[in-house]
Amino acid sequence: MEGTAVQRRLIWQVATVAAVTRETPSVRTIELSVPDWPGHRAGQHLDVRLTAEDGYTAERSYSIASAPGEPVSITVERLKDGEVSPYLTEELRVGDQLELRGPVGGYFVWEATDPGPLLLIAGGSGIVPLRAILRQRRRSGSDVPVRLLYSSRTLPDVIYRDELDSYRDDISASYTLTRTQPPDWTGYAGRVNSALLAEVAWPAHKEPLTFVCGPTSFVETVAEGLVHLGYQPGRVKTERFGASGGR
Ligand SMILES: Cc1cc2nc3c(=O)[nH]c(=O)nc-3n(C[C@H](O)[C@H](O)[C@H](O)COP(=O)(O)OP(=O)(O)OC[C@H]3O[C@@H](n4cnc5c(N)ncnc54)[C@H](O)[C@@H]3O)c2cc1C
Repeated sequence: MEGTAVQRRLIWQVATVAAVTRETPSVRTIELSVPDWPGHRAGQHLDVRLTAEDGYTAERSYSIASAPGEPVSITVERLKDGEVSPYLTEELRVGDQLELRGPVGGYFVWEATDPGPLLLIAGGSGIVPLRAILRQRRRSGSDVPVRLLYSSRTLPDVIYRDELDSYRDDISASYTLTRTQPPDWTGYAGRVNSALLAEVAWPAHKEPLTFVCGPTSFVETVAEGLVHLGYQPGRVKTERFGASGGR
């Protein structure tokens, strides 16, 4: 049976766009109807393949934004001059089809049975797999304590703002805005650095299970900062989305 599930994950299949939701001016969540979806775990990603009329293909990875058991969805940020993300965020409509395969990845995943408090740190669209983890925690009834640190350029760039607000009484969430802050802003300003990590992250002796996701340079800075604070590298899971990202 497991062999069949593995094969299905590796095979390209056609999915249909079931819904498109505007998250921010440059970010859309795309819900997909996937007839032969084998199920996924919180934190995994999938691969999307687009084929042009002349046969040219482009493949990109996208984290799965939904919890296991929910319809498969991805959340895509439009990158200026990008090849694939402008199509997914601007052209794709309900009823359109695209090819995908997955789920992919067995390391950057969270199970409700995993021990320890959770530390979730995201830069920009790096919040996507962490949202799946938060949703899975809620769906599973887990009461594992969570601290979230989320870095965005500006307030309108904060993805899933209302949904993250809904966790207000349940998790400890800290936000930092790197470019501009509104006059009444009570969160942090500037990029995530060692001082901010020391202030908002769990103390190392709590041995938190940590997920860090975002642009490569962001992830590397954060992971180094956490190890500097005494975190065990084996408990710090990282997912790099590529490029520097400028957050
Ligand atoms: C495991 C994994 C999961 C991912 N999940 C998501 C996700 O949930 N949501 C999402 O929006 N993206 C995600 N990405 C990034 C995604 O795969 C693409 O790289 C991204 O959409 C850009 O593709 P593009 O074709 O539009 O840009 P490209 O044509 O590939 O690149 C255009 C320009 O942007 C730069 N660039 C590429 N990637 C990034 C980036 N992430 N940040 C800033 N600049 C970049 C390139 O260096 C290039 O200069 C994920 C990547 C990986 C590896």
